[in-house]
Amino acid sequence: MSGVKTEAEKRKQISVRAIADVEDVTSMKKSFNRHLHYTLVKDRNIATTRDYFFALAHTVKDNLVSRWIRTQQHYYEKDPKRVYYLSLEYYMGRALTNTMINLGIQGACDEALYQMGLDIENLESMEEDAGLGNGGLGRLAACFLDSMATLGLAAYGYGIRYEYGIFAQRILNGEQTEEPDDWLRFGNPWEKARPEYTIPVNFYGRVVDTPDGKKWIDTQVVLALPYDSPIPGYQNNYVNTLRLWSAKSPVDFNLKFFNDGDYIQAVIDRNIAENISRVLYPNDNFFEGKELRLKQEYFMCAATLQDIVRRYKVSKFGSREAVRVSMDNLPDKVAIQLNDTHPSLAIPELMRILLDQEHLSWEKAWDITVRTCAYTNHTVLPEALERWSCSMLENILPRHLEIIYHINFLFMEEIQKRWPGDMDRMRRMSCIEEGHEKKVNMAHLSIVGSHAVNGVAWLHSEILKSDLFKDFYEMWPEKFQNKTNGITPRRWLLMCNPSLSDLISEKIGEEWPSHLDQLAQLKKLATDKKFQTEVMKVKQENKMRLASMLEKDYGIEINPASMFDIHVKRIHEYKRQLLNVLHIITLYNRIKKNPKGNFVPRTIMIGGKAAPGYHTAKKIIKLINMVGRVVNNDPVVGDRLKVIFLENYRVTLAEKIIPAADLSEQISTAGTEASGTGNMKFMLNGALTIGTMDGANVEMAEEMGEDNIFIFGMRVEEVEALKAKGYNALDYYNSNPELKLCVDQIKDGFFSNGNPSEFSDLTDILLKWDRFYLFADYEDYIKCQDRVSEVFMNKKKWAEMAIHNIASSGKFSSDRTIAEYAREIWGAEPTWEKLPSPHAKGPQSTAQNNGML
Ligand SMILES: *Cc1c(COP(=O)(O)O)cnc(C)c1O
Repeated sequence: MSGVKTEAEKRKQISVRAIADVEDVTSMKKSFNRHLHYTLVKDRNIATTRDYFFALAHTVKDNLVSRWIRTQQHYYEKDPKRVYYLSLEYYMGRALTNTMINLGIQGACDEALYQMGLDIENLESMEEDAGLGNGGLGRLAACFLDSMATLGLAAYGYGIRYEYGIFAQRILNGEQTEEPDDWLRFGNPWEKARPEYTIPVNFYGRVVDTPDGKKWIDTQVVLALPYDSPIPGYQNNYVNTLRLWSAKSPVDFNLKFFNDGDYIQAVIDRNIAENISRVLYPNDNFFEGKELRLKQEYFMCAATLQDIVRRYKVSKFGSREAVRVSMDNLPDKVAIQLNDTHPSLAIPELMRILLDQEHLSWEKAWDITVRTCAYTNHTVLPEALERWSCSMLENILPRHLEIIYHINFLFMEEIQKRWPGDMDRMRRMSCIEEGHEKKVNMAHLSIVGSHAVNGVAWLHSEILKSDLFKDFYEMWPEKFQNKTNGITPRRWLLMCNPSLSDLISEKIGEEWPSHLDQLAQLKKLATDKKFQTEVMKVKQENKMRLASMLEKDYGIEINPASMFDIHVKRIHEYKRQLLNVLHIITLYNRIKKNPKGNFVPRTIMIGGKAAPGYHTAKKIIKLINMVGRVVNNDPVVGDRLKVIFLENYRVTLAEKIIPAADLSEQISTAGTEASGTGNMKFMLNGALTIGTMDGANVEMAEEMGEDNIFIFGMRVEEVEALKAKGYNALDYYNSNPELKLCVDQIKDGFFSNGNPSEFSDLTDILLKWDRFYLFADYEDYIKCQDRVSEVFMNKKKWAEMAIHNIASSGKFSSDRTIAEYAREIWGAEPTWEKLPSPHAKGPQSTAQNNGML
């Protein structure tokens, strides 16, 4: 394929971006060969591509460590407010290329490998994704780490080192199957185990009253072993830390068995404790109240809080105090951000530490806790909200349940004072939900225990205030904020789309990766014919590269002139992949009805994982594949319509697909997608969006102007009105013949070899109890898609709109998001300054410790 660059072209492209220093290249080669020999114990005769990857990764890591140590020393010396980001998910993807770019050594590495006769892209492809996340929430945490380091914040990510990340998806006969993601099989070159900082975490046991206060005794201990990974800022010499905990049995675990003489069984049973960090729960936007998941959440919170308190006490500020370190100033030196309610046990855990270990009064402890913690809500879907059963909590965390009850008791008193006799309000707001089974509403607990609560896009934050958390907003309006999500422009443009990056740098200079607002300078070039041609040439090359990759993987011939219409995200009813399928079938029927007609050719790609237990989502995947089989094999259709289900969508695949997209599908029911971040990645890479007025789409439309985006469908108010009036899918089905035909075909077995029961679950939902109103938006969606096709034929207009998209995406840098969190929630000031390079001569740190605290 002509879109694939030759080796010489690739090298030229990189050399524009980073001119390699001869000395750097020489030392890089030396280091690489040293690692191949001493670390991997291989020579060039027997080394595999994977060995070369590891040798390169270790070489790159060597370039990190001085900066890493010096950054931590710098934090110790300056002792700024520490920011702790707590998340059960970090969807990091690969680290190698990102690290080389952020360190500014990509040119030197590329040249060194070229001189040694190795293909760097081959090596890069050997790296396993760190897939410790499900989708948007986990990827957000990863983008935030990159931005916090780039802004010079003294920030730490804390989470779990899952032995198995998000499963690998395989499609067999059109159906999803899951394979375990054994990502650590060949080792992780980036992490550093720190067994010397192992921390005990308690479970079960009972609570007793002592003269010294409450005590939690007779517990079972699991050890939390920290693994640190470096998080380099963008060319600023900062390197922050992501600390992930791994569960480890204490030596005396199951000692009872040992005493019974069954030594072998006792050793085998050590696995039980270590299961806590075994596997990531594969649910996106869904709460499954499993005991092991509760243990994961507490394990992470307990280990992290002990670490936070320890670091506070040994900090310059903490250790200035004599003998007993006062906890009073914790909120001035520490900010804790909760990524959804998953880490919300941090609130009762901090209370437990302050009450039972530091012996503070309830009032003092509560004041410190609330001023330290802040909570980010990520969804309004009821099935996603965490509600842990009280009986499970009582068994596993008895002391925490007591504390939660007392928090709630005092909270109810406060409501009673302000709204005397308003029992219904107390019931609505309580952290404890009565009913068949008593449950703790973790969102309510998080609001009560935090000084700031934020949604992740303007619309979502408004819905929190007016609907889901209305009562709380009435009580504490000052707690509620918005922080519109963002993405890191380093990974999602500079790294994944080097040709577009070079083109942009040619026009506006090289500062944009850390000052994304500067992309606005491209607006004046939107109608520039030459620039339009250049942008569309890059897009075409990206499309060709993707096409040749897909042709290899799927054996389908792809028309590179067709519109690449892409819908990638987790498979979920609210994201409405089924609405896209209805459009596909509509296009198919139109071609069949008018075989000689002129149709704008489309290659429609849908990708995403379904939670293994989510039956409807798995059926949706099967339907997409079955529709694809009919469409792709119909000779009448030819190259005018192709449907591809992209297997195993993940960060690494997103990096390949997004730069090649013409059209981005963001079609959730208005009011259901909290923000979306996939939408932003496409916009930044010059795809046009077809979308509803939902999540951050609203702000994207505002930034680029409604002329540059294809908006359709009900607004939130219209969805609400329809819900109030009563939605009847049959009204739409019976009055729209194109819609009726599509649904009847699915129902009658047209896509399932004549088996009418195959997709009856889906058609029953659509016709009888669809919570996401697909038919109500169908007609407008189809009309809007027709407009998309029309504009796609006007290449000049399309290019102009694409440039407007790129030029308007500055707001969606996660640097902007993080700067807002820092100033408006954390009380920490982004520095944007550089640390001196480790090679620069200057005064060495006087820190007594090595700073890797
Ligand atoms: C960005 C991203 C997401 C989030 O996509 P949405 O469209 O916002 O749901 C999910 N998965 C991966 C791999 C991503 O990179």
